[in-house]
Amino acid sequence: MNTQEIQTLANQYVINTYGTRKLALVRGEGKYVWDAEGRRYLDFLAGISVVNLGHCHPKVTEAICNQAQQILHTSNLYYIESQVKLAELLSQHCFADKWFFSNSGAEANEAAIKIARRYWQQKEQPKPTIVTAHASFHGRTLTTISASGQPKLHDGFSPLMQGFKYADFNDLAALEKAITPDVGAILLEPVQGEGGVGIPDENYLTQVRQLCNDKNILMILDEIQTGLGRTGELFAHQHADITPDIMTLAKSLGNGVPIGAMGCTDEVSQGFSIGSHGSTFGGNPLCTAAALASVTALLDEKLVENAAGMGEYFKEELLTLADKHAIIKEVRGKGLMIGMDVTCTAAVIINAMFEKDIIVGPAGLHVVRFLPPLIIHKEDVDTVISALDDVLGAL
Ligand SMILES: *Cc1c(COP(=O)(O)O)cnc(C)c1O
Repeated sequence: MNTQEIQTLANQYVINTYGTRKLALVRGEGKYVWDAEGRRYLDFLAGISVVNLGHCHPKVTEAICNQAQQILHTSNLYYIESQVKLAELLSQHCFADKWFFSNSGAEANEAAIKIARRYWQQKEQPKPTIVTAHASFHGRTLTTISASGQPKLHDGFSPLMQGFKYADFNDLAALEKAITPDVGAILLEPVQGEGGVGIPDENYLTQVRQLCNDKNILMILDEIQTGLGRTGELFAHQHADITPDIMTLAKSLGNGVPIGAMGCTDEVSQGFSIGSHGSTFGGNPLCTAAALASVTALLDEKLVENAAGMGEYFKEELLTLADKHAIIKEVRGKGLMIGMDVTCTAAVIINAMFEKDIIVGPAGLHVVRFLPPLIIHKEDVDTVISALDDVLGAL
């Protein structure tokens, strides 16, 4: 099918919650994707930080094919070898002692919220309220939109889930003020993604950790977008040298195969007991085989280090562009999670970049977002910078 034919069927049969789209991508390899007409694009969005190893990574493809020939699904009524290996590998590289696997980021956050509430219930100190940040994004289920501090996500869906309150991001005093005796946890993104690439001050997470200790509440970090190398550390909280009590992952965990995870300390894991949570598909053999291969490749190929180096180079180059083009208001970035605040709409630049065979994305109305696969080289950054220079010059 060509793009036009795909678009016609989409308009007829698929509920449109994403607006009109320009491209139908039908093939990918490494940092490149091809549309239905066979045109090649350099992918600097990676399916919103999902395909971080590049498209169709051979090790992940091999793991998927092998697993598909063995067994696809068993349910969690039985032990799953790839699931326990994935949990072990993740635990070897972060604070979390134990894991629960889900099918998406929102469900990983649901698990985090549920375990935090139940942890305090079990201790007979019920404090169900969770403080989150304004402009945060934690998913699209009713509970996770309630957790997200963006009114546009709530519109038309009331009544929302009770038990969330919001404080300004990167404002310790506001957070402290929000902590009343009913608050049992704070839930934050280490860098706000969908909210427009919001980067907190250097010591913010450290201070939040201290605050959580002082007030005896749990620190939950949503690392669904920031985790697994995106910001130049394996997990973004490792820049701050602190550990949360609970962390959620998803997006790049399966390099394109849907999987989420909630990891926590042994102590917090006692919040769940037999029968208190579950998922039919969560952590199934196919998804966890893909995730095991993905995380292994991420580590083996030193892509976290590459993300740190390339991120620094890319940001510097964007800052140089900002000196030249007044359209750029600000460049914010950590590793390869970079936002460029512009005076025009982000869409204008995104569409002009398509014409230059480059895919970038938005984060809100006025932020152009770059989330390239972590495999990129300096030449790829140069290609994007030179195209942006042309695009901005022509506006
Ligand atoms: C994408 C994202 C989610 C939601 O993940 P889904 O898989 O779409 O449910 C939650 N939190 C953050 C920080 C995200 O970037």
